[in-house]
Amino acid sequence: MKLFEYQAKKLLAKYGVPIPRGSVATTPEQAEEIASDLGQAVVLKGQVHSGGRGKAGAVKIAKSPEQARQIAADLIGKTLFFAQAGAHLRVDTLLLEEALPIKQEIYVAITQDRASQRDVLIVSTMGGMDIELVAHENPEAISKTVIDPLLGLTDYAARDALFDAGFEKTLAGKAAGLLKGLYAAYVGTDATLAEINPLVITEEGALIAGDAKWLIDDNAIFRQPEIAALATGEDDDPIEVEARRRGIQYVRLEGGEIGIIGNGAGLVMTTMDEVKRAGGTPADFLDIGGGAKAESVRSSLEIVLSDPNVKGVLFNIFGGITRGDEVAKGIIEGLSTLNVKVPIVVRLSGTRAEEGAALLAGASIVAAQTMQEAAQQVVALANKARKS
Ligand code: GDP
Ligand code: MN
Repeated sequence: MKLFEYQAKKLLAKYGVPIPRGSVATTPEQAEEIASDLGQAVVLKGQVHSGGRGKAGAVKIAKSPEQARQIAADLIGKTLFFAQAGAHLRVDTLLLEEALPIKQEIYVAITQDRASQRDVLIVSTMGGMDIELVAHENPEAISKTVIDPLLGLTDYAARDALFDAGFEKTLAGKAAGLLKGLYAAYVGTDATLAEINPLVITEEGALIAGDAKWLIDDNAIFRQPEIAALATGEDDDPIEVEARRRGIQYVRLEGGEIGIIGNGAGLVMTTMDEVKRAGGTPADFLDIGGGAKAESVRSSLEIVLSDPNVKGVLFNIFGGITRGDEVAKGIIEGLSTLNVKVPIVVRLSGTRAEEGAALLAGASIVAAQTMQEAAQQVVALANKARKS
């Protein structure tokens, strides 16, 4: 899950990282009021899920509240092309902040490193620009430090990284504290990326987060209720938002009709292929994971059925640590508590498949032996239901 800059900055502030004074606006009038409250030159920044906003024309400076209102009137509702996201995005919300007297722009980030299987701290004095470009053209300008997960980001490791990046002593001391706050925020929010670019060194020598990019591990959203509650943006699919809230791995697919529920990402993808081969179109990807309990099976069925395009549901379960009887119980609970109007085809195999089949014997589902058969059945039943 991606956070907007203003959301990420609120998190940073909670962890003691200095951010500019400011507030968000969705109308030109609000923008004028905020600029007037700030009482100085302000920067207006479109809140979209992309970097490179400066180049896209979504970051502007206003010298007066009047000018802030004019810029806001021009930007709000406007669709701009963001090369970094490779997409046209509409600006609905602006973050207005005190414009910072920038002396230098620094890049700092914490993210996951595949090679070391650790979190890494990345620091570069070439901030403000695309870090991929810096990595490509000036790799020596980037300092990478692997973080020991038991020690966390220690003061000396942070200072070492800063010296390595070319910071002088006093500033390194100041920045080390900030980096520790950044790391605490990264860990505390289950982030996979926490980036400040630019970290601004002001004319007065203060350090302030000028921008923030934040990604949260979707698998951890269930234990981040405050962050999950932020995921109500208009870009987000409401069913996906609800699934995330429940901790269910669900991706909604456009234009599909066959709801798919399986265990294991590979099996779910194969099931999607089989549905296509049978002439159907998958409406979703839903992985109940390993060892799913009846309640999460029921909850998953509810999520899939909440998509009005779904004309049939296919359960494909290959039991290992996932037990067929537990899945069957979840399906039965779903049938009795949800208003199920579409055919449900179930293919169970592996651990406790027979027990599961016995439980489902009287239920209004269609049992299938193989994945191919199940896919053909659900597509045929969905077609039939649509015609009648
Ligand atoms: P991004 O392009 O989406 O990464 O948006 P940023 O928030 O990083 O802004 C892009 C650039 O605009 C920064 O690198 C700065 O050069 C400039 N900028 C942003 N905020 C300010 C500010 O408060 N004062 C000044 N002078 N420049 C700013
Ligand atoms: Mn930036």
